[in-house]
Amino acid sequence: MSPSLITVSYLGAAALFILALGGLSTNDTARRGNLFGIIGMIIAVVVTIAAFVTQHHEVLIGIMIVGGVIGFVLSRRVQMTQMPELVAILHSLVGLAAVLIGFANFMDPTIQYTGVEKTIHEIEVYIGIAIGALTFTGSVIAYGKLSGMIGGQPMLLPARHWLNLAMFIGVMVIAVEFVGTVDHDRAVLLLLAMTVIALLFGIHMVAAIGGADMPVVISMLNSYSGWAAAATGFMLSNDLLIVTGALVGSSGAILSYIMCRAMNRHFISVIAGGFGTSGGSSAGASIEGEVQTIDIPAMADLLNGAKEIMVVPGYGMATAQAQHAIAEITKTLINKGINVRFGIHPVAGRMPGHMNVLLAEAKVPYDIVFEMDEINDDFPDIDVSIVVGANDTVNPLAQEDADSPIAGMPVLEVWKGKTTVVLKRGMAAGYAGVDNPLFVKENTRMLFGDAKQTLDALAQAI
Ligand code: NDP
Repeated sequence: MSPSLITVSYLGAAALFILALGGLSTNDTARRGNLFGIIGMIIAVVVTIAAFVTQHHEVLIGIMIVGGVIGFVLSRRVQMTQMPELVAILHSLVGLAAVLIGFANFMDPTIQYTGVEKTIHEIEVYIGIAIGALTFTGSVIAYGKLSGMIGGQPMLLPARHWLNLAMFIGVMVIAVEFVGTVDHDRAVLLLLAMTVIALLFGIHMVAAIGGADMPVVISMLNSYSGWAAAATGFMLSNDLLIVTGALVGSSGAILSYIMCRAMNRHFISVIAGGFGTSGGSSAGASIEGEVQTIDIPAMADLLNGAKEIMVVPGYGMATAQAQHAIAEITKTLINKGINVRFGIHPVAGRMPGHMNVLLAEAKVPYDIVFEMDEINDDFPDIDVSIVVGANDTVNPLAQEDADSPIAGMPVLEVWKGKTTVVLKRGMAAGYAGVDNPLFVKENTRMLFGDAKQTLDALAQAI
């Protein structure tokens, strides 16, 4: 394949990736954005294989088929509720690939640089492996936390900040040694030592983060996976990988910033760990007050008598797969002339945009779905708020208890409306492990049960 054809194809793929990102920024254009991304990736993969100089294309294609089949089967099997875990584990694979490619590249006897080029190449290898290693273990721990295999509480070692500092200094000192040495075997050993530190750093960094701050970590690992790919692109002198990695890295960084703002957190404080450490209130211990329940017929009457309704979905809607049922109810109520809107918290669910994806899947019209900032002041005018499996994102303790792990996080102020009905199975705490006094407020009614079953029954009753 001629170099100019490769360059033109890579440019085309890069342009398609940029169009994909642009398309994904609004619901209306998201499908088109996805299509651009898919076409761009097909071009990138085909051209890269065709341009790859090897005697063994059959090995390359064989490995790709095995990987492709595993990916295809796993993605088809994965439940919508497991999407966040899938994203986390995919980030980990990007990190692992960056580590393996870095070592393979550094140990390849056919790659010989001298002078400044040698130093630059070594720095590229070092950075690629370092970011890849911490992305790998960090994402594996994030996978564990999201899937429930590891508890959401932060793991806080006594001198964690010193530990982080020591690991950072260690990585920098080894970097100087690595670039300075002319002994190739010693350089490999130094690279291995740094990799071990970076792997430990990834574990420690994510393990120390409290449940409610996980959204920042997810977007940050997304960003790291992009920078690891970009560093690998420099190492392999592959322009497309550099551009693609930089696109993922920078969009992930912007998302991390948006998540930090949404949660009123400072990026550095989240990364250093420690949020979610204060005692706060433990599940079931500190809620004082009487829980008032409501049944389906009474709830149906309440909704039929309302003029303004706000639906606030959360992670429970995803686990119950209740989006279709609430979409059905919304349609019926709107046909009766009732104004129904959806209020979405930026970190509701377990991945950025989780609720928007589910509501789009259930064909809830985009123009009745609002971000928290757009509708939070409207609650005093709301007759009924229906909280479908949301908990941390509607917890007034975020405003009332400075010691709470979720202190300072903006929440949807449903309690300011006339009546709030909370649909959940019991009195369990949310992801951050914090009790929710909303459930005992005077104007709150609890409708216990699986959200889908409850909403199916409600759809009949209204
Ligand atoms: P939460 O995770 O706080 O609470 C969900 C609630 O849903 C639970 O209290 C549970 O109560 C209820 N629930 C579970 N299954 C069902 C069901 N089948 N039917 C009805 N209810 C059910 O949800 P939120 O969306 O309010 O908050 C998200 C949390 O996740 C935040 O703390 C956020 O920081 C964190 N997070 C968000 C990420 C993101 O990117 N968006 C990533 C990682 C973490 P019960 O068991 O009693 O039914």
